[in-house]
Amino acid sequence: MNEQPILLELNEISQQYGSGERRFTAVEKINLTMREGEFVALLGPSGCGKSTLLRIITGLQPATAGTLLYRGRPSPGVNPHATIVFQTFALFPWLTVLENVAVALKVKGLPSDLRTTRAIDALDRVGLDGFENAYPRELSGGMRQKAGFARAMVTEPELLCLDEPFSALDVLSAEALRGELLELWTGGQIPTKAILMVSHNIEEAVFMADRIIVMDKNPGRMVADLSVPLPHPRQRKSAEFQAVVDQVYATLAGQTRPEHEELGTAPGEPGMTRRLPHVAISDLAALLEYLDELPRNQADIYRLADELNLDSDHLLSLVETAELLGFATIAKGDITLTGLGETFAEASILARKEIFATRIRRLPIFKWLLAMLRATERKQLDWGVVQTALELEFSPQEAARQMDILVDWGRYAEILAYNDDDEALYLEP
Ligand code: ADP
Ligand code: MG
Repeated sequence: MNEQPILLELNEISQQYGSGERRFTAVEKINLTMREGEFVALLGPSGCGKSTLLRIITGLQPATAGTLLYRGRPSPGVNPHATIVFQTFALFPWLTVLENVAVALKVKGLPSDLRTTRAIDALDRVGLDGFENAYPRELSGGMRQKAGFARAMVTEPELLCLDEPFSALDVLSAEALRGELLELWTGGQIPTKAILMVSHNIEEAVFMADRIIVMDKNPGRMVADLSVPLPHPRQRKSAEFQAVVDQVYATLAGQTRPEHEELGTAPGEPGMTRRLPHVAISDLAALLEYLDELPRNQADIYRLADELNLDSDHLLSLVETAELLGFATIAKGDITLTGLGETFAEASILARKEIFATRIRRLPIFKWLLAMLRATERKQLDWGVVQTALELEFSPQEAARQMDILVDWGRYAEILAYNDDDEALYLEP
């Protein structure tokens, strides 16, 4: 039992937008309790209402229905104890970094000298000392975002809401800033009592949050509330970390059948080894991008063949792959993107590779191959050895095709390499 005081309570919160014919439900019946000490991440496809929820929680907009309590009381209007940090922080270009931070205290009615002292202190804490008198244009993206954090933190909010705060930054700045925020939070150096962070990045959520709420859309709703029972600092490569990541992926992938049935078994194990569909990843990506553009991310499979000008065998292999990897679900002749499929379709090349790698690692045939590679001294296997093993399951032609697919997918995911000269497979370091 968590005995910490309750900070925030949402009860059957719903939000509708538009009017008349065009009225629709953006979020439906959200129930959420946040206590002091919690770092909660909100994860879900774009359009599921994450930003809407943050605006309702901070009081920037009233909900259409439901009740919101802050420390047990209804909080009409903007909540003075909560602050939002947005994806790109709008700093005033004509003010210095220090003035940009101090201005947040003006509304609080603090005297000028106190505003300056507090702003200097906040800039110190995010590592921007020495840049007080610089203008925003003189700062890198990462430093501007830090100034944004300082501006949010200087008001000492009890509830810090972050809307994809790292997504506009390059990989290195994002990682550095994540680390700094975690240090401030876990070190108790800020008076913030709870953090609610919207994220698009599954590993980021598992790295930072204690609790992950997964949402889905049409209408926007909560589908899972998972806890992350790992101490800080977290090791991304550890088995415990990966287990939580897998759990979140499975939720986002909307898996319908039991895993053993869906994935088959590994070669040599009792049961059916599942044949990998003959599919190029670029074709799969094109299908997911196409679905991502459609209303409700859904299409009639038999019409898709015409629309995409594909022969139906090829299309069915693509559909099978999308389902096998958890990027889509199939029901009643329709294919629908899952949250994970949508995340993939909208992700950068690098993030796509990461998602793809996580997904193929759970296929028994990949697990089997990776385990064999790891067991060898030089982390390499001759092509012929793998081919022979696969021929126990498949015809020689099919075994060769399965090898091609394993190498093709494994290379894309950057977990396997193949060397033509010595005809050997390698494990990527
Ligand atoms: P997310 O942050 O998860 O991407 P949003 O909260 O921004 O989702 O949007 C949820 C849905 O509500 C989307 O369909 C979006 O187009 C719609 N929406 C958001 N804000 C408004 C608004 N002010 N007026 C009308 N529709 C809106
Ligand atoms: Mg948003």
